[in-house]
Amino acid sequence: MDFKVATLLKASSGNKKLESVSSTIKVDRSEFKCDVEGSVLLTKTDVGVWVSAYLSAKIDRQCGNCLDQYVESVGLGIEEEYFPLFNLVTGERNELEGIGEDNFYIGEDNVLDLSDAVWQYASLHSSINSKCKEYCKGLCVDCGINFNKEKCNCRNNKKNTKLAALLGSFRPTD
Ligand SMILES: [Zn+2]
Ligand SMILES: [Zn+2]
Repeated sequence: MDFKVATLLKASSGNKKLESVSSTIKVDRSEFKCDVEGSVLLTKTDVGVWVSAYLSAKIDRQCGNCLDQYVESVGLGIEEEYFPLFNLVTGERNELEGIGEDNFYIGEDNVLDLSDAVWQYASLHSSINSKCKEYCKGLCVDCGINFNKEKCNCRNNKKNTKLAALLGSFRPTD
């Protein structure tokens, strides 16, 4: 999700730019993919651009219970400052003191890419035991069918086999 910020970077601090977004975000180094919609307010700061984004994200997930894919909708409020790696006028690399690797950067092309931030914020939202629905019935341990969609006879068969085994042990011997 790219925003061209060259003009904003040239402006004096306090200048704002409001963008509405509707796009699909993919992060190359992960399986992450989601659709986002919302608005992004970009404000010029002393050194960079402050991002205030209010997004509704539809995130592809896999249910930890039945392993089905499902879509989770989350609201993301992103507040981050982005720092330009290069000086817009001189083209030289900026010396940004006290700004570590955890920060977000604006690349050489003066494009601010919000994808990583969306990914990070969305990851915070994801629970370890994600479930497709509150009462997901999960999978049958014997035949693997999805109890949300189908039924199977494994449990009954098991009972029957147990019963048969039990009856078998009582079979009179001659
Ligand atoms: Zn499920
Ligand atoms: Zn079964």
